[in-house]
Amino acid sequence: MYSGSCGCREISFTLAAKPSKLTKCFCSDCRKFSSFFGQLAALHQAADFKLNDPKGYLKVHVVTTTRSGLPKRRFLCGNCGSSIYTIPRGHEGELVRIRPTLLDGDFNDYMEGVPVNAIFTEELEKFQVKDVKLI
Ligand SMILES: [Zn+2]
Ligand SMILES: [Zn+2]
Repeated sequence: MYSGSCGCREISFTLAAKPSKLTKCFCSDCRKFSSFFGQLAALHQAADFKLNDPKGYLKVHVVTTTRSGLPKRRFLCGNCGSSIYTIPRGHEGELVRIRPTLLDGDFNDYMEGVPVNAIFTEELEKFQVKDVKLI
């Protein structure tokens, strides 16, 4: 069992299993929703994900600037702004993509043995500033 929380700790969640995949996404949306050059997303079965939101802070932001052109719902804490999860298109009620950097506790155990891929890495070429290795 793994647990995590948003930046203000008002929303928390548990995960009953390790993720099946970790994806490093460097698209412009992920860059803007983080303060870094991308985001890490962990794919989980929706049944393994339990959200605790006693104050009802969860908000939905519909992202309309996706590369695919298809809108995507991003679930975030309306109090502190932390992105918490998205639902992969066509997999409502089945799969969720959690922001694993919200986990509290042993991140190494959570990540160990999980396949990792990276997408939209070409975006990083814009940020390879001379003499500064950003990634
Ligand atoms: Zn929060
Ligand atoms: Zn992205």
